[in-house]
Amino acid sequence: MRWSFHLARIAGIDVKIHATFFLLLAWIGWIHHRAGGLTAAIDGIIYVCLIFLCVLLHEFGHALAARRYGIKTPDITLLPIGGVARLERMPDKPSEEMVVAVAGPIVNIVIAAALWLLMGLTSHLPDPDLMQATGISLPARLFVVNVWLVIFNAIPAFPMDGGRVLRALLAMRMDYGRATSIAASVGQGIAAVFFMLGLFGNPMLLLIGVFVYFGAANEAAFAQIKSVTTGLRVSAAMVTQFQSLPLGATLNEAVEALLRTSQHEFPIVDDLGKVRGILTRNDLIAALRKSGPGTPVAEVMRVDIPSVHHSMLFDRAFATMQECNCPALPVLDSNGRLVGLFTPENVGEMIMVQSALGSAHARAAISPAPPPLPSTGPR
Ligand SMILES: [Zn+2]
Repeated sequence: MRWSFHLARIAGIDVKIHATFFLLLAWIGWIHHRAGGLTAAIDGIIYVCLIFLCVLLHEFGHALAARRYGIKTPDITLLPIGGVARLERMPDKPSEEMVVAVAGPIVNIVIAAALWLLMGLTSHLPDPDLMQATGISLPARLFVVNVWLVIFNAIPAFPMDGGRVLRALLAMRMDYGRATSIAASVGQGIAAVFFMLGLFGNPMLLLIGVFVYFGAANEAAFAQIKSVTTGLRVSAAMVTQFQSLPLGATLNEAVEALLRTSQHEFPIVDDLGKVRGILTRNDLIAALRKSGPGTPVAEVMRVDIPSVHHSMLFDRAFATMQECNCPALPVLDSNGRLVGLFTPENVGEMIMVQSALGSAHARAAISPAPPPLPSTGPR
């Protein structure tokens, strides 16, 4: 995610914080300062930081539960609206997805229980008035926050955890795509109720309604892609007729290739046939303007683009492409040789074709790829 800063690395997971989070802190500090001076401002900022610590621990709950099933979480990002744990993928088994979804709220239940115990103990301390300085004690406020986090996430709508639990419960009885579309409809229905209640004077509910509506729509779209491409391999969808450029080429040669072909991205390969980078049309045009046609492509190409194996499952490669926001992924064979390009246009075409064909029978007919992996459990 752009504009996020690395904060720490805990249990092999990068913890990042989005720049807008600091705006939230500044805003909270300013509001509290106006109401009660510097002490109130510091109190407010500490309170918000502790809330986000609870959110972070919630996300770690998801990440560590996913790790049990061999799913990595490269990073967790804290945003003003909450935390996002970027899981490599969702578990395929509904029961496992349920465990991962429930693990977050369970962390908040544990925190709430610990705060409850703490409050029970401190009420016997000689001077409780000192803690009550701001009306309600900090542990009590945090207790309420954690209870709210559990309630909010229990709402059975994407992108809340309750939406995933609902989908997992449905997916135990029907196929994944159908389960998702039912769960997404339920979520959008709930979003509409929030929105309507929000119209009667609660802007927060209005905002949550919009947030939930798009979350549900997004999940439904992603599940549709997943269901029509299940079992497909990258090799079935990659572009195999394309032009690559040698590492020593200049922008002038790249311009020629750009005009001659309909390609927008060009893999750059070295003498041994290994991919060293990708030159995009936008980068090419920008560099032409800045440094002229004699510039070597090696200075302009993008080198941060991951490659994928031709036998990789389609949805994994699609997730990789979305994650890095890449214009194209080089597809390699087992010897590391470039055999194709995986591009958003081709992915779009593949999804259209698969949706049109629909049946698994037709899928087998157009895909020379190896058969789908045996299912590891009920879908
Ligand atoms: Zn969660």
